[in-house]
Amino acid sequence: MVIDLKKIFVNENSSLPLSYALDLSDVEYMGLYPLKKPVEINGVIENKASLVRLGAEISYEFEAPCDRCGVDTVKSHTVLVDKSLAASIEGDDSDTILLVPDMKLNLDEFLYSEVIMSLPMKHICTEKCKGICTKCGKNLNQGKCDCVEKEIDPRLAALAELLK
Ligand SMILES: [Zn+2]
Ligand SMILES: [Zn+2]
Repeated sequence: MVIDLKKIFVNENSSLPLSYALDLSDVEYMGLYPLKKPVEINGVIENKASLVRLGAEISYEFEAPCDRCGVDTVKSHTVLVDKSLAASIEGDDSDTILLVPDMKLNLDEFLYSEVIMSLPMKHICTEKCKGICTKCGKNLNQGKCDCVEKEIDPRLAALAELLK
C-alpha cells in the first residue's frame, strides 16, 4: 500500500491513523518461512508544528523450531517506530528520518524492511530450554534420557576393569 501524505504535510495538526496488515509469509529466513501470519502495524502519522512524524508499533509472530530442542515455537515480537517523515533529506540522519519521495509512503516496503531488520538471531522455546541429548536425540525438556546415567567416570571404569 502506498499512502499519499500531501494532505498531512500541508495541514498543520492533521493526522492519519494507521492500521494495516501485510502478508510476509513468502519471506525466507535461514531456510524457513517464519512469518506465517500477516505482520501488523498500528499507529499514527501526524503533523505537529510542521513536523510530520510516524509513531507506530509493528507486531508479528515468528514461527520456527526452537534453536536448542527443535520443537515448533511461536514468539511474538514488536518493533517501536518513531520517525520523522521528510520529502527530501537535508542531513544524513537516515536512522530517524524516513524519506517519502513525492510525499508518498510505501508502507509495504517500509514494513518489510523494518521487520526483516528485526528478525531474531536467537529463537528458543523458553530461556530454560535444555535442548536435546546429542547422543540419543531425546528432548531433555521432557525428561532425562538414559545416556547421562550410563556415562561413567573413566577412572571408575578403569577401577571396575581392575576388580573383574
Ligand atoms: Zn527448546
Ligand atoms: Zn540421550
